[in-house]
Amino acid sequence: TKFDDLQINENIKKAIAEMGFEEPSPIQSQSIPVILSGKDVIGQAQTGTGKTAAFSIPILESIDPNNRSLQAVVLCPTRELAIQVSKEIRKLAKYMHGIKTLPIYGGQPIDRQIKSLKSGVQVVIGTPGRTIDHINRKTIKMDNVRMVILDEADEMLDMGFREDIEMILSKTPEDRQTTFFSATMPKGILDLTKKYQKDPEHIKV
Ligand code: AMP
Repeated sequence: TKFDDLQINENIKKAIAEMGFEEPSPIQSQSIPVILSGKDVIGQAQTGTGKTAAFSIPILESIDPNNRSLQAVVLCPTRELAIQVSKEIRKLAKYMHGIKTLPIYGGQPIDRQIKSLKSGVQVVIGTPGRTIDHINRKTIKMDNVRMVILDEADEMLDMGFREDIEMILSKTPEDRQTTFFSATMPKGILDLTKKYQKDPEHIKV
């Protein structure tokens, strides 16, 4: 597969080329078309496989830039990962207009995040605890969220975020698309996918 074979807009392709990606990695060529089709996906892939772009490209393809409401949420186990994912999404969105993304994590003053959120962010990349904090303060609204990505889902469970994740998922619309990325598939993850995904496609690289 080539990036040109994928149903993604020219602005994203231009950014991909600038980032030096010559062809899609296996997790990208297998999961991008399935996520774009609207199906729920379980992507079993380690760090370093290109998993971030595998979910970020479909997020950008699905966002309505003219709608200022929150449309996609990526949950990450750590602030470092949230920052890294957010940087990659911003690079991929370089030639798209009107897309705003924001990492939200603990340890950063919440007032600053609230100010940024007020400007109309369509993609939030958050750690579970801080995301719940914003939901409770009503500084993020989940009503229009169409995509939820759990990145490094196994790590999040190991870190004790299960309840937080379930709380966040329960605040999003039933008809959302839910994607799990995880290096391993322990029972805890399978339980979550059964509870929160619809007929997921399991892609393993
Ligand atoms: P990840 O597994 O998402 O952490 O990605 C690992 C590294 O590979 C990151 O530096 C990405 O920017 C890079 N990368 C992702 N996709 C590709 C690709 N198709 N070709 C070359 N590098 C890539």
